[in-house]
Amino acid sequence: MDALAILRQYYGYDAFRSGQEQLINDLLQSKDVLGIMPTGAGKSICFQIPALMMGGVTLIVSPLISLMKDQVNALIQAGVAAAYINSSLTEKQIHLVLQRARAGAYKLIYIAPERLLTSDFLSFAQGADISMLTVDEAHCISQWGHDFRPSYSRIPEFIAALSSRPVISAFTATATPKVREDIVSLLLLEKPTVMVTGFDRPNLYLEVQKPKDKFGALSEFLKSKKEKSGIVYCSTRATVEEVCERLIQNRYKASRYHAGLPDDERRSSQDDFLYDRIQIMVATNAFGMGIDKSNVAFVVHYNMPKDVESYYQEAGRAGRDGEPADCVLLYSGQDVRTNLWLIENSNNNEEPGDESTREQILERDRRRLREMTFYCSTNDCLRGYILKYFGEVPPPNCNNCGSCKTNFETVDVTVSAQKTLSCVYRMKERYGVSMVIDTLRGSKNERVLRLGFDKLSTYGICEQSEQQLRAITNHLILSGYLVKTDDEYPVIRLGERANEVLRGSGAVHMKLPKEKEISVAKHEERKAVKVDRRLFDVLRDLRRRIANEQNLPAYVIFHDSTLTDMCIKTPTTPESLLSVSGVGQAKAERYGKQFMDAIVNFLRDNNLEEMPSGPSKGFDPATVEITDEPVTVNMVADRINCVLIENGYKKISGQRVNSWLIAEGYITTVARNDKSVKIPTEKGRELGINSEERFIRGEQVEINLYGRNAQEHIVNNSLRLL
Ligand code: ADP
Repeated sequence: MDALAILRQYYGYDAFRSGQEQLINDLLQSKDVLGIMPTGAGKSICFQIPALMMGGVTLIVSPLISLMKDQVNALIQAGVAAAYINSSLTEKQIHLVLQRARAGAYKLIYIAPERLLTSDFLSFAQGADISMLTVDEAHCISQWGHDFRPSYSRIPEFIAALSSRPVISAFTATATPKVREDIVSLLLLEKPTVMVTGFDRPNLYLEVQKPKDKFGALSEFLKSKKEKSGIVYCSTRATVEEVCERLIQNRYKASRYHAGLPDDERRSSQDDFLYDRIQIMVATNAFGMGIDKSNVAFVVHYNMPKDVESYYQEAGRAGRDGEPADCVLLYSGQDVRTNLWLIENSNNNEEPGDESTREQILERDRRRLREMTFYCSTNDCLRGYILKYFGEVPPPNCNNCGSCKTNFETVDVTVSAQKTLSCVYRMKERYGVSMVIDTLRGSKNERVLRLGFDKLSTYGICEQSEQQLRAITNHLILSGYLVKTDDEYPVIRLGERANEVLRGSGAVHMKLPKEKEISVAKHEERKAVKVDRRLFDVLRDLRRRIANEQNLPAYVIFHDSTLTDMCIKTPTTPESLLSVSGVGQAKAERYGKQFMDAIVNFLRDNNLEEMPSGPSKGFDPATVEITDEPVTVNMVADRINCVLIENGYKKISGQRVNSWLIAEGYITTVARNDKSVKIPTEKGRELGINSEERFIRGEQVEINLYGRNAQEHIVNNSLRLL
C-alpha cells in the first residue's frame, strides 16, 4: 500500500497537507528529517505513516504522558498496533509491553526520554529491529528553547548504543533559527531535510484587550461561547483558583489545573475536560503541552505569558480541528511585573551553569518578555507580528485579528511626542512610564510632588487620558524614540531617534482606534459551514455514549469536523461513509453502522431526503466560467463557488483544490530555499498547469496558472472536492 492509500484507509483523509508528503517520502528513503510545523499542521502523520510502511518498529520519544496516551488511543482506534512506556505504567505493565514488543506486536512505541537508557528498555532496543527513531517536541533538546529538558540531551547516547543507526525524524512547532541549529547538531541529524511549513494558523482569530476589570471582560467574552470548550490560562496558581471559583459561582462548568494540585485531582480535571464533562479549563501553563483535544474553540490568556513562543504554543491549542477559534489575551501592566519576577526568580529547567551563562539566559528572557509586551501594545496586524517574530514575511493585513478588525486612523502625534520626550529628558531619564505620564498630566500624586516634578516645564502640559498617553508612549518605544530598560523596575530613556523629534525635524504618526469595536462577537458570524444543528446534536450524543462506554475522549472516536462532514454528506451506505473526512476503514467498520442508523432515523423522522451524493441535479459544470486566459487556482475556486453557492452547496477553497491536485498527481511539493513550493508535475503540465515567476510584495515567488483544459478538469470534478 502506498502512503496515500494508508492516509485514506487509516485516517480517512483524501490528501496530504503541505509538507507531509515530502517528509514521508524522504523518511522512506532513509533520509533524516526535521519538520517545523505549527500545532495542528499534522506532524504525527509524517512519522506514523512511514512507521507503518517500514519493516521494524518505530520509537517515538515524547515528553508528556498525556500526549502519548492520546496518540496511542487514536492509533488503536484507527486500527494500528501501538503502545507507550512511561511512568504511568507499573514495572509489571512495562515488562508486559516489552515482552509483546519483542514478539513484534507493535509498529509504534511511544517512550518517555528518561526511560530510553533504563537497562530493560535498552536491552529490548538493542535486540530489536528499529527502523526509525522519532523525536517529538524536539525543541526540548535546546537550552535556547523555551522548554529545555536535560533528559533529551541523552538521546544521542541511546542512538549510539543501538546495533545500527535508525533513520531519525525530529518535529517541533516552535523553533527559532538558533533552536533549529541546535536540534540538527545535538541530535546529530545527517544532512536532514528541514521542512518549515509556515507558522500561520489562519483559523485562529487573535485579539488583545486591556480591560480594567479582567473578570468582567472574560464573562463578556464567554457569553458568546455557550457549550464551546476552551482554556483560560493564568500566570499563577492563585489566579487559577480565583478565576475558576468565580466561574463556577457564575454557573459555568469549569475546572482547574496547576502543579500545586495532587496528581489525582489534576488527572481527573484533565479527563473531565478531554471528555467534555466540563466546558472551561482554568490552568497555569502546566496544562496543555501535548493535549490533542481538537475541539478547543477558544483560549483566553488572563495574563500575558512570558514570551511569544509560549503564547503562540498555548493559544495554538485552539482550533486544531481547523474550525474558527478565538485567542484573546487580557493584558495589564502588572503582567509585565509578574513575569519579570518569575524570570528573575526561577531556575526554570535550566541546568546550573556559570554566572555568565545565567546572565545571558536572563538577558534573553527579558528580551523575549519585551517582545511579548510589544505584541500587546501594537496596533498593527497581530498575526503579522507573530509571523515576523518567527522569521516569516506576512501580508500587511490578515483581516482576522483585533487590529485588522478595528477601525484605525493614522494620527499625527508629533506634538505629544515632543512633550513626552522632553519630559523624559527633564526627569533625567530615571523614571518609568507611569511617572512620566503622571507628570505630563499634572498629577497631584504624592511622589510627583515630593520629587518636585510639579516644578518642571512639562508638568501638566498634556490633556489626553492616561490610556491615550500610554498608547503614544508605547508607540514611541516600539519606534525607537524611547528605550525601556529590561530590569525589574524599568525606566524610560531617550532612544536613537529622539533627536529628530526634539529638534523638530521629524513627524510622528501612529494608528489609533477610531471607535471601540470589539469584534469577537462579530467573528462568531464567520461560521464556516451551515449544518443541520439537530442532526449534529444527535451524532454528538451518539459519540458521547460510545466514548463513555469505552472510556475514551469523544474526539478520539470522531472529531467535530468529521461530525460536521457527516451532517453535510448524510452517508447511509458504507461507500458514502468512507467519503467523510476523518472516517478510515477501521472506524467505519467499528462505528459506521451506529452512525448511519442514526442518520437514517433522523432523515426519516424529519421527512428529509438524503443529500445527493453523485452529480447533482442543481450543479451544472457547464455554467462555470472557463477562459482561454490562464488563471490562478483561487480564481478557479471562486468561479466554481459562484455556481455552488447558488445551488445551496458549501464553498470550496483554493487550498482544497490544490490538495486534490496533489493527491491526483498533477502537482507536487518541492523544497526551495527552506520553503516548500508547489509545482506542476509532468502530468500537470500536460493538463495545462504552468508555473510562472512573479514579484509579489517584493519577493520573487512561483505561482501556478491553469489553462482552459486544467480549468475544465477541475470544474468537472467540483463535486468531488466538497
Ligand atoms: P500536530 O502534531 O502538528 O499539532 P496533529 O498531528 O495532531 O498535529 O494533527 C492535527 C489534526 O489534523 C489531527 O486531527 C489530524 O488527524 C488532522 N490531520 C493531519 N493530517 C491531515 C490531512 N492530511 N488531512 C486532514 N486532516 C489531517
